[in-house]
Amino acid sequence: MAKKQPPVQKNETIELTFEDITHDGDGVGKVNGYPLFVPYALPGEKAKVKVIKVKKNFGFGKLLHINQVSEHRVEPPCDVYIQCGGCQLQHMSYEMQLELKRNQVISSMKKIGHIEHAPVHATIGMDDPWRYRNKVQIPVAHRHGELITGFYRKRSHEIIEGMDRCVITAEVNDRMVEAVRRMADRLGISAYDEKAHKGVLRHIMVRTGQATDETMIVLITRTEELPHADKLVKELHETYPQIKSIVQNVNKARTNVILGKKTKILWGEEYIYDNIGDIKFAISAKSFYQVNPPQTKKLYDKALEYANLTGGESVIVAYCGIGTISLFLAKQAKKVYGVEIVPEAIADAKENARLNNIDNVDFYVGEAEKVMPWWKAQGLSPDVIVVDPPRKGCEQNLLDAMIEMNPERIVYVSCNPATLARDLKILEEGGYETKQLQPVDMFPQTGHIECVAQLEKKM
Ligand code: SAH
Repeated sequence: MAKKQPPVQKNETIELTFEDITHDGDGVGKVNGYPLFVPYALPGEKAKVKVIKVKKNFGFGKLLHINQVSEHRVEPPCDVYIQCGGCQLQHMSYEMQLELKRNQVISSMKKIGHIEHAPVHATIGMDDPWRYRNKVQIPVAHRHGELITGFYRKRSHEIIEGMDRCVITAEVNDRMVEAVRRMADRLGISAYDEKAHKGVLRHIMVRTGQATDETMIVLITRTEELPHADKLVKELHETYPQIKSIVQNVNKARTNVILGKKTKILWGEEYIYDNIGDIKFAISAKSFYQVNPPQTKKLYDKALEYANLTGGESVIVAYCGIGTISLFLAKQAKKVYGVEIVPEAIADAKENARLNNIDNVDFYVGEAEKVMPWWKAQGLSPDVIVVDPPRKGCEQNLLDAMIEMNPERIVYVSCNPATLARDLKILEEGGYETKQLQPVDMFPQTGHIECVAQLEKKM
C-alpha cells in the first residue's frame, strides 16, 4: 500500500480555516485532518496561508492574508511584538487569552490525565494585564557609535534596535534601563561584544518592589573592573531616589547565562524589599522572586483555600523555593516543612521567615524526592502536602512518597498543564481524587499557564 502523503506541499498557497490554537499562540487549521500550525492566526479566522514546512503528521504555514477576521483579534500595542517573540498572545483579546488558558487545562486533563470529573474554574486574570513584570534583564550592545539596549530578535542574539519599552514590564524599570544606558554611554563604558568576548557591560537588570517602590539596579559586566563606576552610581541614585541598591555582577564566561557568580555592592543595600499580601520578602540580585506578585497572591490564596487548614495541621511544601507558599500557609498551620534543591533559595526562605517573625517553618536543602521518604522514615506524617514543581513536574518517587505518606489533602501548584495532568493521573491511581482546578494568569500576553489543583484522599 502506498504511504499516505501529506495533503499539502511546501510553498503551496492554500485557504485555511482555523479551529484551535496552541499555547504558543499558533493557530491550528486542518486540511483533510492534517494539521497546519500558523503563527498569529486565531480560531474562527479564514486566511490565505503559505505552506512553509511539511512533516509527516503536521506542517507549518505563514499567514499571508486574513479573509475573515476574528472578533477577538486586537492590535498588539508593542512595536516589536513580531520580532521579539517574548509575548505570544498580544494579538488576542485578553478575554480570549483567559479562555484559551482554561481550555488548555481542560484539554490536558482530558487527553493526558483522563480526568474529566473535576471542574476547571474560569482563569483568574488581571484587571490591567500590562506593565506587570517587576524585573527586566536586558542585553547591551554597541551600534552606530553608541550603546543600545533591547531584547534579542526571536531565535537570535541580535538586539532589536529602537526598542525603548516593553509593555509587560513595569514602566519604572523601562525608565531605569534607559537612564543607565544613557549615563553609561556618556561615560564611555563599553558594551560587551559577544563574538569577540570583549567589552564591559553585558546586561542591565532592574527590579522594583511593587508594594515598596524600591528599585535595585544590577550591572552585569564581563570584567571585574567597571570604569567610572563611582560617577555612574552617584548620578543614578542622586537622580532617582527610589534606587535603594546598585550592585555589580561579574560574569566572565562565554555563556548565555546572564548572571555570574560574583556580586559586589557598589552602593546602598544588599536587598530591596517587597510584599505579597502581608508577607515581606527580601530580594537580592540573585534571589528568585515571582515576577507578578499581585497574581502570585491570588494563586497562593487559592492554594491556601485548597489546603483547608484549621490551625492544627502539619504541612509539607515540596519545591518550596524562597518559601513564598510556605510562609503563606504557616500562619494557618501548626507546622510547615519546606524542601528545595537550591541552597541560596533556602537561605532566602529562612531569612524571609525571620523577617516576618514566623517560627513554625523548617526549611531543608535537598532533592524533594529524597527528603520526603526520609521524613517519612522519621515518622513525619503530614495532613497536607503542597507541591510547586518546575515545568517537568514531580519525580515518580516523590509521587510515590506522597501517596505513602497518606495526607488528607494534596495541593498541586503547576506551571505546566501537561505534566500536571500526568502527575494527577498517578495520584488518582494512588487513591486520591482531583476535586477542582483553578488556572491563574500570572503571565498575561504570553502562553504560560499557571494552575492550582486540589486533591483529597478517596473515601
Ligand atoms: N513557589 C516557589 C517557586 C517554585 S519554582 C517560590 O515562590 O519561591 C520550583 C522550585 O523547585 C525551584 O525553586 C527549583 O529550584 C526547585 N526544584 C527543582 N528541582 C527540585 C528537586 N528535585 N527537589 C527540590 N526542589 C527542586
